[in-house]
Amino acid sequence: MEECIFCKIAKKEINAEALFEDDDIIAFRDIKPIAPIHVLLIPKRHIGSVAEISEDDALLMGKLIFQAKRLARELGTEEGGYKLLFRVGSDGGQEVPHIHLHLIGGAPLFEEIRPI
Ligand code: 5GP
Ligand code: ZN
Repeated sequence: MEECIFCKIAKKEINAEALFEDDDIIAFRDIKPIAPIHVLLIPKRHIGSVAEISEDDALLMGKLIFQAKRLARELGTEEGGYKLLFRVGSDGGQEVPHIHLHLIGGAPLFEEIRPI
């Protein structure tokens, strides 16, 4: 996956404002934030989307969620609340084909999805 933009961020080939990093995951600010706090958390290893995870990835996915919760607290949006979002595939609105968890907060975020 030579061209994957988030693999490049993980490998520091493209700059991003990283907020957390360990051997397995990295969290960085979204380049086009939709709320005062908008962070993306990704595994460093390329996985295309939630549709591609296997049972072996369960711990890795748990780490993404756990670290999102810690960042929410550090960034001051724990009390007010926040949204965690995985988009999956085209109907899900996923644009970057490297799995990422959005942490969105810092303002009221009412559901954009309404009953049909
Ligand atoms: P998706 O629609 O795939 O769930 O979300 C992709 C997100 O990645 C978008 O919110 C977009 O602003 C963000 N994004 C795309 N390219 C870059 C980039 O090069 N750097 C950073 N920091 N965010 C990016
Ligand atoms: Zn990738």
